Amino acid sequence: MISITKAIGIIRREKVRVPSETTDLPSSVGRVLASAIVADTDLPPFDRSQMDGFAVISKYTPGTLKLVGESAAGRGWHKELKPGEAVAIMTGAPVPKGADAVQRIELTRNSDDKAVNILDATEKGKFIIRRGAEIKKGTTIFGPGEIITENMIAALAAFGYGKVKVTKQPRVSILGTGSEIVEITKKPGRDQIRNSNSVMLDVLSRKFGAVTTVIPNAKDEISNLRAQIKAAAKSSDILIITGGVSVGKYDLTKLALTDLGAEIFFDKVRLKPGKPVVFARLGNTLIFGLPGNPVSAAVTFHLFVRLAILQMQNAAKTSPAQAFAVLGLDTRAAKERDTYLPARLSTDKLGHLIADPLKWQGSSDFIGFARADALIVVARGKILNKGDVAKIEYL
Ligand code: AMP
Ligand code: MG
Repeated sequence: MISITKAIGIIRREKVRVPSETTDLPSSVGRVLASAIVADTDLPPFDRSQMDGFAVISKYTPGTLKLVGESAAGRGWHKELKPGEAVAIMTGAPVPKGADAVQRIELTRNSDDKAVNILDATEKGKFIIRRGAEIKKGTTIFGPGEIITENMIAALAAFGYGKVKVTKQPRVSILGTGSEIVEITKKPGRDQIRNSNSVMLDVLSRKFGAVTTVIPNAKDEISNLRAQIKAAAKSSDILIITGGVSVGKYDLTKLALTDLGAEIFFDKVRLKPGKPVVFARLGNTLIFGLPGNPVSAAVTFHLFVRLAILQMQNAAKTSPAQAFAVLGLDTRAAKERDTYLPARLSTDKLGHLIADPLKWQGSSDFIGFARADALIVVARGKILNKGDVAKIEYL
């Protein structure tokens, strides 16, 4: 049995990388950038007016100024403003050379198109956003390894990135095992249960950037299991198997992997839930054998598989976000295993983050887990009380 930190270290060592490709900007959300995004212009590209009003030379305000032209967005006035002159200007339009301020229209009186009365004094720089104030041409705004979010799209578009270089999506296959497992569309017979894991692992894998294939369940029968694993590994960068990883008579995942000549890096982690978890490699395919219990499968996915999927895409950030929260209830870890407890988060009136451990019946309780926002991390042997501060990991 190895520690969680050790297990994570081993997964980090197994660097299998996918190549990069080009994708259209709207399809790039969730993908990992494979090259730097560089500003190809200053922003704003010219001194820009922030208001509708008049471009002026501040030291000639207040006063009546000769109106010599108009600068509108997309149609600027490109002569030089002289003392005693003003130019009508709109929001977003270029400020003419010679002008050093804009006075907003509400503080002016303008009865004809020959002159304007600037009622209030203005000051140098007022209502002008200088060329390059937001960003200078040549600045790197996003680096390789960043996951593209919806909020980044406008910035990419503004610098002409209609197409983006991203890493390819790892091919992840999911294989549920167990002679009791039936498809979710079937009514389970006596002694049977529905395969809730495969679809859960499918959506989780896709959430972190994978393209997935769900393989029909394998029975607890060695030759068939071996054949399924062999075929799946051939066409996958990562194969996730659930079930059959503990020590029962019909737990055959590890045996099948050994038979196929896979290199097994670990098979037990000091973790609750999710002690029996296998990490192996067959050729260039990384293989995870997760426990069959649904919550154990989810927790081990978040701790280990997610890291492998993100690392394969060369993501800069591969671990779940961590924080500290005040416990809403007493809680304790297992004696010998670091414990991850599903919790719901809220804030109190003072702005404290509160983590309430969810009532759950253990590693098979996916109903309790369904409302979890985070996992509370409790070091092995530790007892924590209501009001104590604990580490959490966001799901
Ligand atoms: P195992 O890890 O194979 O010993 O399975 C542990 C528990 O998880 C058993 O109660 C299984 O019936 C259950 N289980 C195994 N595979 C799945 C699955 N794909 N979906 C839901 N439950 C499962
Ligand atoms: Mg089983």
